[in-house]
Amino acid sequence: MIDLHTHTDQSDGSVSPTALVEQAVAMRLEALAVTDHDTLAGYDLAVPAAAEAGLELVCGIELSTRLDQKSDGPRLPSVHLLGYFPDRPPSPEFRMWLERQQESRRQRNRDLIAKLRSLGIKITLEEVQVLGRNLTGRPHFAKILLKKGYVSTIQEAFDRYLADHAQAAVEREEPRLVEGIRRIAEGGGLPSLAHPVRLPQEDRASLAALLRELIAAGLMGIEVYHSDHTIEAVEMYQSLAEEFDLIITGGSDFHGENKPAVSMGTGRGGNLNLSYDVLARMRTQFAACLAR
Ligand code: AMP
Ligand code: ZN
Ligand code: FE
Ligand code: FE
Repeated sequence: MIDLHTHTDQSDGSVSPTALVEQAVAMRLEALAVTDHDTLAGYDLAVPAAAEAGLELVCGIELSTRLDQKSDGPRLPSVHLLGYFPDRPPSPEFRMWLERQQESRRQRNRDLIAKLRSLGIKITLEEVQVLGRNLTGRPHFAKILLKKGYVSTIQEAFDRYLADHAQAAVEREEPRLVEGIRRIAEGGGLPSLAHPVRLPQEDRASLAALLRELIAAGLMGIEVYHSDHTIEAVEMYQSLAEEFDLIITGGSDFHGENKPAVSMGTGRGGNLNLSYDVLARMRTQFAACLAR
């Protein structure tokens, strides 16, 4: 069994990179990809632990991007994009681009603190950053609001303050999906559309139309297997992957205690069991893509 979609506490997972590796080794995973949101810090920290344990570790990332299309609200739909670097590390240019993205997030976080304080909420950037380490995001703000008793659930923190249209909402410039695709490909990676079940395009025809556009922009893969995909969804994404000659990727989207229903490797209630073949095929097809 392998898992190609996991998060550490360097983004919004609860488990440290070392502990993630230990867990993967304990359950005898044959390969593990760390795919933290917008940072390679979790992967970088997992490298020595994996080398020592003899675990095959795949470098990955999950970028937060926006889809360039009309949406119901004032903001463009948010889309996650996976990037895999199975054979060689991401280029220095890619790492520098990530750094610049992080700066826009840091600015957003400072603005968010200011807005929350203006609403009478006593909260500091420092206490939120302790939770977020390398990538402080809104889920970390939500945890502090809960801990300090301003709300009684994480969801209430989003609904009242943090959601895109809530009282304290702050716009953050996120890269467009097609830019994310281009950056990953130029950085030497395999861009794969994450959990397509969350896209606004739900039926096969509109998804196919979107895929045509994204493939023209350099998309190489699609996440067919994911904890949130029903059997029917997996079948549809599989047939789209075949039709468009896309590389199939998959994983649990493990977040540790921050998403307790999802287990590493086996997903939600045991709905995942990816064989090593998925990674082997990814590698072969990726090499073929690069040779084209
Ligand atoms: P950030 O990247 O800091 O903007 O935070 C984005 C994350 O916040 C998402 O991946 C979700 O986990 C969470 N999130 C955003 N909007 C909501 C919402 N309306 N309800 C619950 N969680 C949300
Ligand atoms: Zn996450
Ligand atoms: Fe995601
Ligand atoms: Fe994820």
